[in-house]
Amino acid sequence: MCGIIGYIGERNCIPILISGLKRLEYRGYDSAGIGVLSDAESVIVKKPGKVSSLEEKVELLNLSSNVGIGHTRWATHGLPNEINAHPHSNQNGTISLIHNGIIENYQTLKKGLQKLGYNFISETDSEVLPHLIDNFISRGHSLLKSVRLALSEVEGTYGIAVIYSGEPDKIVVARKGSPLIIGIGSDENFVASDVSAILAHTKQVVYLEDNEIAEVFRDHFNAKTISDDEIEKEVHEISMSLEEIDKGGYPHFMLKEIMEQPESVRNSMRGRILLEEGNVKLGGLAEVADRLAKSKRIIISACGTSWHAGLVGEYMIEQYAKIPTEVEYASEFRYRNPIINPDDSVFFISQSGETADTLAALKEAKNNGALALGICNVVGSSIARESIAGVYTHAGPEIGVASTKAFTSQLVVLALITLLISRKRGMSLEEGKKIAEELNSIPEKINLILSKNDEIKNIAEKYCNVKNFLYLGRGYNFPVALEGALKLKEISYIHAEGYPAAEMKHGPIALIDDNMPVVFIAPKDSIYDKVISNIEEVRARGGNIIAIVTEKDENMNRLVDHSIKIPDTIPMLMPILASIPLQLLAYHIAVKKGLNVDQPRNLAKSVTVE
Ligand code: GLU
Repeated sequence: MCGIIGYIGERNCIPILISGLKRLEYRGYDSAGIGVLSDAESVIVKKPGKVSSLEEKVELLNLSSNVGIGHTRWATHGLPNEINAHPHSNQNGTISLIHNGIIENYQTLKKGLQKLGYNFISETDSEVLPHLIDNFISRGHSLLKSVRLALSEVEGTYGIAVIYSGEPDKIVVARKGSPLIIGIGSDENFVASDVSAILAHTKQVVYLEDNEIAEVFRDHFNAKTISDDEIEKEVHEISMSLEEIDKGGYPHFMLKEIMEQPESVRNSMRGRILLEEGNVKLGGLAEVADRLAKSKRIIISACGTSWHAGLVGEYMIEQYAKIPTEVEYASEFRYRNPIINPDDSVFFISQSGETADTLAALKEAKNNGALALGICNVVGSSIARESIAGVYTHAGPEIGVASTKAFTSQLVVLALITLLISRKRGMSLEEGKKIAEELNSIPEKINLILSKNDEIKNIAEKYCNVKNFLYLGRGYNFPVALEGALKLKEISYIHAEGYPAAEMKHGPIALIDDNMPVVFIAPKDSIYDKVISNIEEVRARGGNIIAIVTEKDENMNRLVDHSIKIPDTIPMLMPILASIPLQLLAYHIAVKKGLNVDQPRNLAKSVTVE
């Protein structure tokens, strides 16, 4: 789930591993560790908490080594303590292994190994791996073959890196369901779960696929499948720069990413809008666009924030393309034997493109013959590669764990897809042009909203001590209410709920008193008057109201405690604008509370476990 870095070459690997781990911190983790071969002796150093604490511990040891691996762990099995941190090793300490993912059959494997006399010291699933590998090495197999044989007994997901003092000239890596890349340097090579960990050293990378394994030496690497077939791997050039990943002068990645939205949203549309034709061009869907437009049903499957984007997509597609659309949590979709027909199209949305539940749901839909399409941010990610076709959101790297710019880019892409399908299904040129023009004007409107940052900060500071928040919206803005509440929960740890505004009277109204702030998303649209009635209901019960309203709505000031004005647009695009003040509200509340907004507790950026 978390981060992997490894180095083999002529330099001292310690600073490379530590700085690589620091690059991976954004993913969220609870402990860290490194394993190196120093004078062909294996040394492991680990520490719960931040990489900086590990760094302090490592510095005291004055280590130097030319080959090593490093890990940030996000615990799935066993507490986040030192023993459970990775690397794990075999009994005589000759093997060091780091693992991302979950070994599902670890209990069976552990029992078998215990019978053979293997002692386990951690609570992790991962610890079975070094013992299992040891068992094959002790029968005379090489490290590569032992790892291969061990993995063929494993059920579950893994990205692993292994070093062994008996063969100190290599790192063995393998992947199934958890990303792993090899970085090619000159007379040195790297391994990592994520390019950002090695980008300071090389831009040449090789992506391992599921069920592939590689032996990485200082000056070359060999890749195979787990079942021992030879394979050829292509080297890719990374175009992302390190500056892009840095905070760019902001105190947090999250604020940087919120502020980047005029640009990220523009990037999502770049080269795709055909203003004159009232249409869009989406290269990734070109070959399937006709089939997509003829779908009997569209399903959108995702998790978390991407699921909220999917809900907005449902409203868009049903309104304009008139294709029945359903939105499903990926985790539910994959396990409930969904009815999927060959004339269904299923979109899978994931920022990282590695979300385990979404990836598994994608495989399920593909097996059932549906047109399985990806909407991902990370180029070359697993979902992007597994889907039949798809659209990249091009929001750029998103490092803050709470998604902001990736969400608005997902909304833009869903609007583009809606336009594409709708124009094929009879939407007029005129209507197509109107949507295309509105899309084009969104980045400028976002700029106007961002200029209200201080105003929103002042409001946020008044509410940082409350215990609960309610977010209400209707129509297109109901998913915005859900997303606003999720953002607040994720980073401020304040309990928040999103509801369709009209549902309030069926339950949540009981919660309202003068300690309960209620955020209304209330732009001037066809259901504005209904939302006003809901606002009156909250007011009558003493609730504090923050309203997101459209410019020129002077009426609202007398009804609410705070109003945040945003530019007007067509209803389908309003969620893009309306979600931005809610991101800023959550951000400033969390900052005021002194919380770690970029790495909120218990959360991970890329959820690569079920
Ligand atoms: N399942 C392993 C553990 O709990 C690996 C977790 C991770 O991916 O960081 O230690």
